Amino acid sequence: MKTAALTAKQLGLVSCHDCHHLSQRPQLTDDQQAYCPRCGAALHQRTPNSIARTWALVFAALILYVPANLLPMTISTTLGDQQSDTILSGVIYFMHEGSLGIALVIFVASIFVPMMKILILSFLLLSVQFRSRWRPRDRTRLYRLTDVVGRWSMVDIYVVTIVVALVKLGAIGNIDAGPASGYFAALVVITMLAAESFDPRLIWDALEERDD
Ligand SMILES: [Zn+2]
Repeated sequence: MKTAALTAKQLGLVSCHDCHHLSQRPQLTDDQQAYCPRCGAALHQRTPNSIARTWALVFAALILYVPANLLPMTISTTLGDQQSDTILSGVIYFMHEGSLGIALVIFVASIFVPMMKILILSFLLLSVQFRSRWRPRDRTRLYRLTDVVGRWSMVDIYVVTIVVALVKLGAIGNIDAGPASGYFAALVVITMLAAESFDPRLIWDALEERDD
């Protein structure tokens, strides 16, 4: 099987991480560092230690996912009655109240999306490590999807806290963010960094190798 086109790596071209300027990679020994001719950032043909770093961040995200979902997200007090809600109990609360739309938004943003990001990144990492040649274009699309969704992840925590606060806040009452909110915010940031540290160009390297 032949690849249809030459890759930038085969042509000795390298793209800058910061300004995306494509330049000819100078002939250097291993301990020399190339720099972008336009913005001066360090150039890498492939992000260094991308796989190890992304795995570390994925595992960190997986660990944070547990307290983010098991600990209370909100603690509300109404007339001395204290009630704490986890993300899931918040979802169930809104379903019972007949607010299916709100329940769905919280479920997708806070439970489904972070887990999907962890699963997709793990799948991409394994496929690269096992030098898979399976559907590289679709895998690249999958990566772009997690990257794009990741940019909107910061909304998650606001959705949960603001919506729960708005609806539950009675005439006499008080609502506080529970211990899960800190873990959840960390989870969002860590999954964003994990998506950022994965180098999707690694997906295409396995195809190149066996063609030579
Ligand atoms: Zn540059």
